[in-house]
Amino acid sequence: MNWPSHLAFGLVLYAAFIFSSIFFGYHLEVLTIAIGAIITIPYALLPDIDHDMSKISQVVEILFLGATVVAIAGYFYSKKEELLMVAGFLVALLFVTKFLRHRGITHTIRFGIAAALPLALANPLYAVFAFIAFMSHLAADMHLKL
Ligand SMILES: [Zn+2]
Repeated sequence: MNWPSHLAFGLVLYAAFIFSSIFFGYHLEVLTIAIGAIITIPYALLPDIDHDMSKISQVVEILFLGATVVAIAGYFYSKKEELLMVAGFLVALLFVTKFLRHRGITHTIRFGIAAALPLALANPLYAVFAFIAFMSHLAADMHLKL
């Protein structure tokens, strides 16, 4: 399945989740629903970060390289060494994604849990939204591995 199909499927599943939540009387703020839709976009595509030509890989590459340049520029401006560590960490993460086998670890339920969980620090619902989006990808790939 290509990225627009994964995105469409993730958003349809998200809409179904929201409508059924409202149907069963769960109150959701409009802002929470909007943030959930925004969260769905990257998480529905996230598993394909293990594929060089995927849209999520290309976007993450641009974002990480941009953040690395900003961190290095910030170091020259502020002389704070932790900014160099951030730059090194971002480059190391990008490097690791180049060696991932397609439909390997990033296409597992445990990776989805690990990737969604940090959002619970902001709002537990965000982690639920992220996990639903992630699972929509695995379901569409018919690749449900723990
Ligand atoms: Zn995939």
